[in-house]
Amino acid sequence: MSIRSNLEEIRKSLPAGVTLVAVSKTKPISDLNEAYQAGQRVFGENKIQEMSQKWEELPRDIEWHMIGHVQRNKVKYMAPYVSLVHGVDSFRLLREINKQAKKNDRVIPCLLQMHIAEEETKFGLDTTELNEILDSEDFPKMENIAVTGLMGMATFTSNEEQLRREFKQLKTIFDTLRQKVPTAEILSMGMSGDYKIAIEEGSTMVRIGSSIFGARNYH
Ligand SMILES: *Cc1c(COP(=O)(O)O)cnc(C)c1O
Repeated sequence: MSIRSNLEEIRKSLPAGVTLVAVSKTKPISDLNEAYQAGQRVFGENKIQEMSQKWEELPRDIEWHMIGHVQRNKVKYMAPYVSLVHGVDSFRLLREINKQAKKNDRVIPCLLQMHIAEEETKFGLDTTELNEILDSEDFPKMENIAVTGLMGMATFTSNEEQLRREFKQLKTIFDTLRQKVPTAEILSMGMSGDYKIAIEEGSTMVRIGSSIFGARNYH
């Protein structure tokens, strides 16, 4: 299967209103170009250095999404161009993004990453930490970030009931968030293995890598 035909298959299965982020981490420029030629304009990467190299080489109408864990000292490298940061999991990180966005005279859209997986290993905030951020004195003063929604990763499992439970939990938090934060309209949940379930549970943005580009080789 080609990248183009994989993309076409996936696009056909997405309802209107669900954005496809093509997760191109570890993949060569030639693969991204193939997806670009097939009309894809939103790409997700999980390392800032790799994303910046690709940003420099590829056309400027691409939206670059940072989907991985972000180290604060690297925010400055993506601040000039990043379209959406999915993995904001601390107030300190949000502050740093605000600071670097200000230096670049722009507003950077951010998703707060929630911990929804029943397994221990994934990053993310719990609801107490989320509310601490939203209710803090500083939050309304941060003029160079916009919280545009939430992101979450479910447990890596084929147990459909568990996946649904975790996605439902995130959707509930999202619905509550929207009462407080009018700019929140994105619910980023679902990957190659679970995106159909995520969409049924209310996802508006899916992050799909291996079903488009094939399995990743980390060596
Ligand atoms: C790698 C990655 C994806 C894509 O995973 P696939 O299973 O290849 O679709 C999605 N979201 C995040 C946060 C990732 O790190």
